[in-house]
Amino acid sequence: MRPTLSGPTEAHRCEPPGYREPVNQPSHTPPGFSWHPDTLSVVLGRPVREPDAPFNHPIQSASTYVAGGPLGYGRYGNPGWSALEETVGALEGGTAISFSSGMAAAQAILSLVPRGGRLVLADNCYLGVASVIEAMVERGDAVVRTVAVSDTEAVVAAAADADLVWLESPTNPLMEVADLAAVGAGIRDLPAVLVVDSTFASPLLQRPLELGADVVLHSATKLLSGHSDALLGLAVATDPSLVTALETHRRFGGAIPGALETYLVLRGLRTLPLRLERAAGTAQELADRLAGHAAVIRVRYPGFGSLLSIDLPDAVTADRLVDGTRLWVNATSLGGVESTFERRRRWPGESVAVPEGLVRMSVGIEHPEDLWADLVRALG
Ligand code: PLP
Repeated sequence: MRPTLSGPTEAHRCEPPGYREPVNQPSHTPPGFSWHPDTLSVVLGRPVREPDAPFNHPIQSASTYVAGGPLGYGRYGNPGWSALEETVGALEGGTAISFSSGMAAAQAILSLVPRGGRLVLADNCYLGVASVIEAMVERGDAVVRTVAVSDTEAVVAAAADADLVWLESPTNPLMEVADLAAVGAGIRDLPAVLVVDSTFASPLLQRPLELGADVVLHSATKLLSGHSDALLGLAVATDPSLVTALETHRRFGGAIPGALETYLVLRGLRTLPLRLERAAGTAQELADRLAGHAAVIRVRYPGFGSLLSIDLPDAVTADRLVDGTRLWVNATSLGGVESTFERRRRWPGESVAVPEGLVRMSVGIEHPEDLWADLVRALG
């Protein structure tokens, strides 16, 4: 039955003469493979395997191409995008469209909501997305109902007359987790389009499209790239009309990923399984130890992944921690090889549901004992 969102269609695309639909270049992966995600993240998105072929697509900085081919113009396609999209699409089980940032991908998805559309939004989610939706409401472009993502019944009930349901799981920064299988099953027969921001989980820990989501969002700036050196976003969908609408939004909205950034994110993806395994193991260990630390009121760790939040008594204590470490870096963003943390309420727009003393922690791949010792020293 889904999806029902309006958006640009094939008719809006005004292709150049000789245009053919961009196709992901076949990599050296044989058809019919059934490899594990760890293997797919290494082998997909490669140039065709032939003598003297490079292992990686070169960074192709092209604003235009000789006419007659499938790309046509630099805003319509790039072999590097295709390589990254092939890899993320296979990992998520859909067709991926890359954008200049996670927020650009979010804007593309939200642009499909009809004027006056009804949205259901996670009551705790990334501040940027919440701000965009708030602005839509203020302009009269949308009506929003908020729900706790962990309250499956409430999500399903709110979805009954919605055009779009926007979930994030785990949520940023309260680490709430949605039962995506139950939500997906509950709204399967409803017209609402289900969007899941899966940035905190990565495709290795959660595959929302298989559970009933229509669109998956990734801020690839975070775990997928993993080295704090690139901004990029991806929207992944299976329904051809949604894929066309998102791709058309990119080509005319113009929020295209840079060639260098695309290269860096694909390069980062090659080691995502290793990075995540290490960081998640450390995150679990730190969560256990922090739960027993006298200075910590509460540990919010969903039981998987490399992110956790801790509640400290107040803003002063939290600021003292984030300013007092030598290894952990006080910085926003997350998912890099370097451990970073921040007091989220230092951002003026952050939800008041987030305690003043909450510190969101992104665990990197340093030695766990060094990370722990740094925290203990700074916590006092
Ligand atoms: N979604 C989540 C969960 C995020 O944490 C962020 C950024 O922090 C975004 C989306 C936006 O991504 P970007 O910063 O790549 O635009």
